[in-house]
Amino acid sequence: MRKKTGIQEEPTTKPLEYFEERRDDIVRDIREMVEIESPSDSKQAVGRLGKYLAGKFSRLGGQVQFHKAVEVGDHLQVNFGGKNDRKPVLLLGHMDTVYPVGTLATMSCRVADGRLWGPGTLDMKSGIGLILHSIAALQARNGELPRPVHVLLVSDEEVGSDSSRHITEALARKSAAVLVLEPSYGLHGAVKTARKGVGEYLLTVTGVAAHSGLDFEKGMANREDRRIYRHEARVDVECRPGEGRNAGQRGSCRGYRDH
Ligand SMILES: [Zn+2]
Repeated sequence: MRKKTGIQEEPTTKPLEYFEERRDDIVRDIREMVEIESPSDSKQAVGRLGKYLAGKFSRLGGQVQFHKAVEVGDHLQVNFGGKNDRKPVLLLGHMDTVYPVGTLATMSCRVADGRLWGPGTLDMKSGIGLILHSIAALQARNGELPRPVHVLLVSDEEVGSDSSRHITEALARKSAAVLVLEPSYGLHGAVKTARKGVGEYLLTVTGVAAHSGLDFEKGMANREDRRIYRHEARVDVECRPGEGRNAGQRGSCRGYRDH
């Protein structure tokens, strides 16, 4: 809502009020998304959600395009123009969930205890709902977006982003900032300001077999194992509250062979 001030138009509602007034609409949209189940391993199911979202974003004036994928659902990109041609802000998210098709039969989408429940509600269909309604809010407030905004919703985040990684990286390099709409931290809704990285390695190790929990020192007789141990010492950083560490875990080497 706007009112004439004589000099310039000023919005009469504050941002939080805007969203509170639209709470039912936001919940309805998230609910519709949750009820289109979209596990990473079902190309067809994620495709259905992609089609639904393409319609939603089109109605907001976004230019929709799909990046074709072979084994997973097609990745959805939506571009919105702004009132200038500055570098875009990229809003990043994913459409896939960890819940198989049919989960809704036992975990229905429902409002209870002041919260919205259902498979994928938190991670991260609510985030997609926020993207939709944040863009709508900016349009309602400014008429057009203050700068270009690109949205990328990938379909394989829960299974390692192998298919979408190059798209995310290419768009991120062209963007002024990337905002990831993953769920907030904890029940109080704290904003996450950093994420840890993930690395996967396959190591072939030869040496003396030893139990990883009982007598692992005996298994460090060979050169490779000592190097792994030193590497683990490097990544064994102190964690601050709220951070987790699961890198370099001892015991992840299996199948020692005696030589
Ligand atoms: Zn997620």
